[in-house]
Amino acid sequence: MLERTLSIIKPDAVSKKLIGSIVSRFETAGLKVVGIKMQTLSKEEAGQFYSVHREQPFFENLISFMSSGPTVAITLEGEDAVAKNRALMGATDPQKADQGTIRADFAESIDANAVHGSDSPENAAIEIPFFFRSLDLCF
Ligand code: GDP
Repeated sequence: MLERTLSIIKPDAVSKKLIGSIVSRFETAGLKVVGIKMQTLSKEEAGQFYSVHREQPFFENLISFMSSGPTVAITLEGEDAVAKNRALMGATDPQKADQGTIRADFAESIDANAVHGSDSPENAAIEIPFFFRSLDLCF
């Protein structure tokens, strides 16, 4: 099914100059960039984005890290975009991520794990408008 999903290139990967390499993986896999935007999130914005994790012990670390530097939000479109992006990303913990995935190749730790990706079409529909107005997305 033709879907959209949200990817975020996290501050660790932006600071390591991996934007191009990561976008290239999406495009090579047949996912089309329909929106792209760079921003440094405030702690409040990061907390709002990750509000489902509010009660988790790692929440403070997560929002400090996500607001520590520039991030790149990307809306991707393609057949089964949500699952395809999750497969390209690899497991949350880079040590457990399959070889050849973005996290296995580029991430250092479960905190600094290079990318975010929506985990369901339902969450993608919430996460995309967090960063993009419909007018910001191209077809
Ligand atoms: P994702 O969808 O693979 O990014 O994982 P989640 O949505 O479950 O978690 C969001 C982010 O919180 C992850 O990408 C990690 O950076 C962080 N995180 C999740 N679980 C843990 C954990 O057990 N410990 C720590 N330190 N961070 C975690």
